Amino acid sequence: MGRNLLETPIEYLKGVGPKRADILKKEIQVFNFGDLLGLFPFRYIDKTKFESCSSLHADIGEVQLKGVLRRVTMEGQARRKRLVAKLRDDTGAIELVWFQGASYMQDKLIVGKTYIVYGRVSAYGSKLSIAHPEIEELKAGTAVEQKYFAPVYASTDKLNSSGLDSKGRRRLVSGIFEKASPSDFPENLPKYLLEKLKLIPRAAAMRAIHFPKNAAEQQAATNRLKFEELFFLQLGLLQQKYGRQIRNKGYVFGQVGSVFHTFFETKIPFELTGAQKRVIKEIRADMKRGVQMNRLLQGDVGSGKTMVGLMCMLIAIDNGYQACMVAPTEILAQQHLESLSNYLEGLDVQIDLLTGSIKGKKRKDILERLADGSLNILVGTHAIFEDSVVFKNLGLAITDEQHRFGVAQRAKLWQKSSPYPPHILVMTATPIPRTLAMTLYGDLDVSVIDELPVGRKPVQTQHKTENHRASVFGFLRKELEKGRQAYIVYPLIAESEKLDLLNLEEGLEAVQRSFPRPDYEISVVHGKMKPADKEFEMQRFKNGETQIMVATTVIEVGVNVPNASIMIIENTERFGLSQLHQLRGRVGRGADQSYCILMSSFKLSNESKERIATMVRTTNGFEIAEADLKLRGPGAIAGTRQSGVLDLKIADLAKDGIILQTARQLARMIMDKDPNLSSEANARLKWWMDNHGPQSKGWSKIS
Ligand code: ADP
Ligand code: MG
Repeated sequence: MGRNLLETPIEYLKGVGPKRADILKKEIQVFNFGDLLGLFPFRYIDKTKFESCSSLHADIGEVQLKGVLRRVTMEGQARRKRLVAKLRDDTGAIELVWFQGASYMQDKLIVGKTYIVYGRVSAYGSKLSIAHPEIEELKAGTAVEQKYFAPVYASTDKLNSSGLDSKGRRRLVSGIFEKASPSDFPENLPKYLLEKLKLIPRAAAMRAIHFPKNAAEQQAATNRLKFEELFFLQLGLLQQKYGRQIRNKGYVFGQVGSVFHTFFETKIPFELTGAQKRVIKEIRADMKRGVQMNRLLQGDVGSGKTMVGLMCMLIAIDNGYQACMVAPTEILAQQHLESLSNYLEGLDVQIDLLTGSIKGKKRKDILERLADGSLNILVGTHAIFEDSVVFKNLGLAITDEQHRFGVAQRAKLWQKSSPYPPHILVMTATPIPRTLAMTLYGDLDVSVIDELPVGRKPVQTQHKTENHRASVFGFLRKELEKGRQAYIVYPLIAESEKLDLLNLEEGLEAVQRSFPRPDYEISVVHGKMKPADKEFEMQRFKNGETQIMVATTVIEVGVNVPNASIMIIENTERFGLSQLHQLRGRVGRGADQSYCILMSSFKLSNESKERIATMVRTTNGFEIAEADLKLRGPGAIAGTRQSGVLDLKIADLAKDGIILQTARQLARMIMDKDPNLSSEANARLKWWMDNHGPQSKGWSKIS
């Protein structure tokens, strides 16, 4: 291809000496021309418009004006000196003020000449002025030049003080375009996509994103580049996924047999929801293809994931394989064992539990039954990952709340079976907005249970401030008298652990005063306790020996006490949305109406207000996740940090859902038809992926 302009080292650009080159490298990782062009403006100043002086007001913001200078005078004394000039147009006038460089400007400005002025309008009383405006004399023939959209780039103090602010950057970028030709920006999308989506060519987009002539051009460039970015991200993810499917053959679960049918026809205690049925079908289809399944099962708390998991395990058993279900804590593993055993009562399915605290003869016995195949289902914690745990033929491994497991541990699961890795089903109640799931888990298949069992009463949620505590406790007392139980939750965040513990202890005292023994018993659970003590307290609460559990967020995941129908969350403003949602999921698990009371101080930031309002408004986890994404951006969502989705240059997963959807669909269609991108029509895609895709260097690996 010959010399590549965009790979020219940045120090060869006119206006960039060794010093500036150094700053560009250190501050914004710009090493060559292409790097600089790859940093897109985050907004534009509309210099196509001139305001008239009479239409100005205090809140108008930044404006461009054209007028004649009427008066230029130095005002004030000595060090307080300032230069004041009056700019007049056909409609009125405004003052321009310089506090710094006043004498220099005084020499430059000429009364009676026409100037173009740009700056932010501010008001002192009723008087409007612009301090330190950009100002330029309007010479004959320059009027047209002034009409443009000026790009504004993200900057740093260091850049600003080195002449590399937006204005300086504009000059540099424009210097590159002076040398560039369209062939420096080769098209990477096939013609049929450009036509279908009415996208402008890449070369035109690259120029217009920096120097759009008008709003329409800027929009066209933005669209084109956002699509390109999301499309190649999806194409890369799908390529990885298909590649893995080719590499990883899987067990064929060809039949649904007697265990599944017996369970389904005679044991199942309720009608499955439509969503549960659909998801089971998806998983079944996936497990009989001869390709290893890697599937994420998302479903809100209480949506019935365990039942889905169980029925999938029964399919494995029907096909002569074993299955396991792994939970992040002993309590949860224990809980799973209990509910699974209940469901399975009377069926010829052998199930047992393996955790770190199961030792000696019991453990030996489990390992033996696991190895000879007489144990069908093993439930447990990460203890299952140990090398000494050997299955006869593990066909399906399910993990619950996988974000607590490391990648390395998941890899261990893969090795628990041969010749093929087991099918993997990852269950999570942490809702991830669809747009993000597509990207985060783009290489997994995703099933969603988006429906709760009928008859569930949504938790009623209210926001109360500290001055209502008496009435909150009064309400709590009434509910406790009806025989219900309650959680009172305190935040526990690492940085302020001591303070939070203090909070919890003070809170506990207040609770004990209002709910004294012997009428009330209280459990306390926090992260600083020994696991055995925690377990003991949890168990007391579960058995109904205590009515109130005062706890930190350690109860966040999975604890199931259906009789607990009230949750009071203290210092709600300190919790994130997804955490609040997880916590609230601990109530509303029984037949009674449940309540969640969000306590906070009176003064709240706007973001806290919005978070609390969201919790009060909805119990839908996906809606809450979407709100979280909008409030805090993708970085706030668990799992995004390592994924590379934060490295997007122009697209925004919180806002560009529709473009992402389109990109995903098209990428999928293309990969289905032409997985190796070997057709003539996809030659450009292949060329781009070979040079910029996941297999090429520099692509942050997502998996
Ligand atoms: P998740 O793990 O998704 O939070 P669970 O599997 O623990 O939810 O189910 C929550 C409760 O709902 C359990 O008590 C379970 O027995 C019950 N359940 C599950 N599916 C249904 C259904 N289709 N109809 C009624 N109850 C159901
Ligand atoms: Mg669960």
